[in-house]
Amino acid sequence: MAFGVIGELPRMLSFLTRRRRDRLRATPFPDAWRAVVARHVPYIRRLTSEERTELEGHVQVLLAEKSFEGCGGLQLQDVHRVTIAAHAALLLLGRSSDYFPHLHSILVYPDEYVVDEPRELDGGIMEEGPESYAGHTQRNLGALVLSWRDVLDGVRDPADGSNVIFHEFAHQLDFEDGGDDGTPLHDDVAAARRFASVVREEYARLRRDVRRRRDTLLDPYGAEDPVEFLAVAAEAFFELPLELRSEHSELYRALSDYFHQDPAAAEESART
Ligand SMILES: [Zn+2]
Repeated sequence: MAFGVIGELPRMLSFLTRRRRDRLRATPFPDAWRAVVARHVPYIRRLTSEERTELEGHVQVLLAEKSFEGCGGLQLQDVHRVTIAAHAALLLLGRSSDYFPHLHSILVYPDEYVVDEPRELDGGIMEEGPESYAGHTQRNLGALVLSWRDVLDGVRDPADGSNVIFHEFAHQLDFEDGGDDGTPLHDDVAAARRFASVVREEYARLRRDVRRRRDTLLDPYGAEDPVEFLAVAAEAFFELPLELRSEHSELYRALSDYFHQDPAAAEESART
C-alpha cells in the first residue's frame, strides 16, 4: 500500500492559491453566519476561541471555493451552506489542508433522495430497484450529496454517533491521496502506517462483533469495508469522543493524531 503524506503540501500549493486563501480566511465573518454555526454546529462549544476563529476562516474558504446547489426544489440559503461548511471545517482544524481538493460541488436535497441503480449485495448478487440515501460521495465523482433532513437529524443529537456531514466529508479526506482505502493523507509515512495498522485491527474487530450480533459503539455499517469504517469512526470521534476513547483507545489515539484534535479532553473541560 502506498501512503500519501502531507508534509510537502503547504509548499506545493501555488503562491496565488495560498494568498487567495489567506485573504478569504481574514474576511470578517458575518454575525448571521456565526448565529447559524452556534445553532447548527453544536460541537463548537468544545472549541477554544482560537479554534473558532480558525473554523470561521475555513468556512470562508469552503464557501468561496465549492459550489453549493439546492436539488429537488430546495432553495439554498446561508443556513444550509454555512452549516455544511462549518462541519467540514471542523475536520480541518489544526493541520495543513488543501480543502477537500477532489470535491467541487455539494448538492443538497430537502430529504432523502432516491437512486435507482443496480447494487451488489453480499455474495455478488445484484439487486435492482430504488433506494433512498441520506448522503453520498465517491472517489472521482467531484460531488457530495446530502439530505438536509438527515443533516438536521444528525445535529439534533450531537452525541448519538451519527452525523451524515462528518461521514461524507471523512470519505473526501480518504480520497485526498487519490485512493479510497480507509487511510487518509498523513503528516508522514510512519504516521500513515500506524494509522493503517490500527484501522485494520479495529475494522476486523467490528466485523467480528457484527457477525456475532454484539452491540457496538461504532455504527455496524462500518463493517461493510475499510472505506465505510473510516467514515463511521470519524462520526464516533466527533460525536462520542469519551466513549470512543474508553472503548477503542488505540483507534481514538490514531484519529486524534490524524485530526490533531482531542475532543474527549475538550469535552471533559467543557463539562467542568
Ligand atoms: Zn459512506
